[in-house]
Amino acid sequence: MSQDHPEIREAVRRLCERFPGEYWRALDRERQYPTEFVQALTQAGWLSVLIPEEYGGSGLGLGAATAVLEEVHRSGCNGGAAHAQMYTMGTILRHGSPEQKERYLPKIASGELRLQAFGVTEPTAGTDTTRISTFARRDGDKYVVNGQKIWISRAEHSDLMVLLCRTTAREDAAKPSDGMSVLLVDMREAAGKGLTIRPVRTMLNHATTELFFDNLEVPAKNLIGEEGQGFRYIIDGMNAERILIAAECIGDGRFFIDRASAYAKEREVFGRPIGQNQGVQFPIARAHVQLSAAALMVEKAAAMFDAGEPCGTEANMAKLLASEASWFAADMCIQTHGGFGFAEEYDIERKFRETRLYQVAPISTNLILSHVGTHVLGLPKSF
Ligand SMILES: Cc1cc2nc3c(=O)[nH]c(=O)nc-3n(C[C@H](O)[C@H](O)[C@H](O)COP(=O)(O)OP(=O)(O)OC[C@H]3O[C@@H](n4cnc5c(N)ncnc54)[C@H](O)[C@@H]3O)c2cc1C
Repeated sequence: MSQDHPEIREAVRRLCERFPGEYWRALDRERQYPTEFVQALTQAGWLSVLIPEEYGGSGLGLGAATAVLEEVHRSGCNGGAAHAQMYTMGTILRHGSPEQKERYLPKIASGELRLQAFGVTEPTAGTDTTRISTFARRDGDKYVVNGQKIWISRAEHSDLMVLLCRTTAREDAAKPSDGMSVLLVDMREAAGKGLTIRPVRTMLNHATTELFFDNLEVPAKNLIGEEGQGFRYIIDGMNAERILIAAECIGDGRFFIDRASAYAKEREVFGRPIGQNQGVQFPIARAHVQLSAAALMVEKAAAMFDAGEPCGTEANMAKLLASEASWFAADMCIQTHGGFGFAEEYDIERKFRETRLYQVAPISTNLILSHVGTHVLGLPKSF
């Protein structure tokens, strides 16, 4: 089993020991944000590993970032509250002006500024991002934003948000993917002054929200890159996100396999450990085989990303394989534990709910299969 970055893994594991199951269970019950955990990750520097050293990060690359998130998840913790601080800044890093990079990146690296929110999805557009209708109208030295977003996670725990909106209506743009722009919204200034945030309670504790924009004013200097090119900038950032989420799935999968193996060795029924029965043992072994294969794809995608190679297909395949492997492991782990798998205090039912998300977000399995079918295999497009 691949275990690169052993020092990082060890240090992250030690940090996570301070946040045991009881901590997560209490938050989960109340759907509260893990502020102390996010602060600990920030202070230890784990959320700035992708920020270059010149801007105060450690510039370690995606391989190191995947090691961090995998260990967080393997430890029974959850990186969902913090992971966007790692990669959302990539939009500024790759497409921001020198002034924007100087202004924001060092503060994001130190944690003084939280850039945790990423606003793309809309209720009526769904996965078809070119159909978004949140519109930013230029008015002198500002944009005036109107519209609605859904599933925007961590919006209440973020100082800044990367927002994708239309600046030209779809029907007036040369191509459906043209005419979208990225604005950096200062949430501290926006909340209550044109931006309303409404939490959405979900089956997992994910701090996700609905956003309503009603004549929200955003300074024109907060435009990232060129007006009309925003879709391309967002797509650029998606590879890192998918690879990191895949690493979280690998961590979840290892958590389930660790727990199931331990329980199957110690739980005795009919006078022998349940793990002696191949009906119990083989699903654990299968989960390990599937997860190991998925981990190799995550590693490959991260290495390609760090080498600056195009890795859209590999990032997608890593996310698909890892999310399916973690889900198989989750189901197996519940089954191995019998009734105790459903008991809150075992943390398995919580992790089961948490890992299910990743077959839907940030991109659903069908859309990945469609990418592979049409872009890799040249099959006819269905949309
Ligand atoms: C907890 C949570 C947190 C999230 N956080 C964020 C966030 O921070 N920022 C953000 O912008 N978004 C966020 N999302 C949104 C997430 O990225 C979307 O939910 C996801 O991309 C799926 O889009 P949708 O929900 O609109 O599904 P839809 O597009 O409505 O699709 C519904 C189902 O139909 C399938 N489908 C649709 N079209 C096709 C087709 N042509 N062929 C085959 N199958 C198809 C999809 O695969 C899916 O299974 C979050 C979602 C959740 C649940």
